[in-house]
Amino acid sequence: MFEKSYDVAVCGGGIAGAAAALAAARRGQKTALIEKTIFTGGLATAGLIYIYLPLCDGNGTQVTFGITEELLLASLKYGPGNVPEWQKGRSAEEAKRYRVTFSPASFIIALDELLANAGVDIWFDTLICAANVQDGRLAAVEVENKSGRGRIAAKCFVDATGDADIAHQAGLVCPASQNALACWVMEYSNGAHWRLDDSIEHISIHASGSSWDSKRGPSGIDGTEVSNFILDGRTKYRERLVKEYASGKKDRKTLFPLTLPSMAQFRTTRHIPAQYKLKDGQDWTHFDDSIGLAADWRKPGFVWEIPYCSMLPAGLKNLVAAGRCTAAEEDAWEVTRVIPTAALTGEAAGTAAALAAASGVSPDDIPVATLQDALRKAGNKIHFDEVGLAAKR
Ligand SMILES: Cc1cc2nc3c(=O)[nH]c(=O)nc-3n(C[C@H](O)[C@H](O)[C@H](O)COP(=O)(O)OP(=O)(O)OC[C@H]3O[C@@H](n4cnc5c(N)ncnc54)[C@H](O)[C@@H]3O)c2cc1C
Repeated sequence: MFEKSYDVAVCGGGIAGAAAALAAARRGQKTALIEKTIFTGGLATAGLIYIYLPLCDGNGTQVTFGITEELLLASLKYGPGNVPEWQKGRSAEEAKRYRVTFSPASFIIALDELLANAGVDIWFDTLICAANVQDGRLAAVEVENKSGRGRIAAKCFVDATGDADIAHQAGLVCPASQNALACWVMEYSNGAHWRLDDSIEHISIHASGSSWDSKRGPSGIDGTEVSNFILDGRTKYRERLVKEYASGKKDRKTLFPLTLPSMAQFRTTRHIPAQYKLKDGQDWTHFDDSIGLAADWRKPGFVWEIPYCSMLPAGLKNLVAAGRCTAAEEDAWEVTRVIPTAALTGEAAGTAAALAAASGVSPDDIPVATLQDALRKAGNKIHFDEVGLAAKR
């Protein structure tokens, strides 16, 4: 077993993990980012989910700032997308809000650059396979990579695995949900109606009418189910090609896959058993412990404060969660699971972990006002009134 030690160890290098690692390292903490694939960005890049959903409320007011906005702009730095004109007041059209479409590969290149500049120690191709808990505190994670098996200790950890793997490995009972089949593919399509550039289409396969619906589909936490989910998605995509070729309108030179997702496209798997779960109907609710604001991407005029306690696992010290494994359900989950909110909770988790590591306490012991002040200083807005809006509940 090799041994390493950090101030902050961020587990999982998706959008939430990247934001957390940036926030922690920029606060001067020795920070590791541990990722089982060879990409940063998770579902947004390896998973080919190329739409950075809105940072504005749909009525012309920007609600999310900080690293969330920095990453949105970074996603375009080495690619062809543009920021639409979104400031002109109410727009029911999601595509005209402050959101962008990006090339996943371009975003990876930009994330690599940002993380290197911040001094984050990145561990690619490294699977976290166990968590060591001592006296109710997460003390280390066990990893496996080409060097063999190792133990990474840290003063504080962030669970940004999307699947609450760390909370689960630490022995917490994590609620799980189910998924509809999804298979987003980048394909070459000569004459495509929607394009990333002149010839690359993004295709999304859904399984309407099949057994893969969100009530009966897999939870994504069983090995066999994960393999079947991936194979079923690819089979449906292959059937589409066969059908298109048989129609005579397209052939293998005018329609073919360019890139397949290298991550299973589960919208939800496990989340942490948090001190508090954000619920349906809690848009426009003031939370004293808010870490920032997120807009509902599906409809204008719905804004949420995200409470810090929905990121803190009950029954385990030294761990804070970020991204899609934070605790939320139904409408609230639709808001917390997407890319901008993953970045928002990532920045908050990384900041909390850095503050906790610097003062030798657990993230649930830092005063929430200290965390909020640190986030404000980094450019974030915490409550509705800070962007000129008002709580309704
Ligand atoms: C089909 C589909 C469509 C979607 N559409 C949109 C959309 O249009 N716009 C939008 O904003 N959002 C969309 N989303 C949601 C969004 O893509 C994700 O929820 C968001 O990117 C999650 O980010 P995350 O960092 O929390 O998790 P993830 O992206 O899941 O990142 C977790 C990371 O942790 C790593 N990891 C996991 N376990 C381990 C381990 N044990 N050891 C080491 N590393 C580990 C993974 O490899 C991954 O890189 C969609 C999701 C799906 C599935």
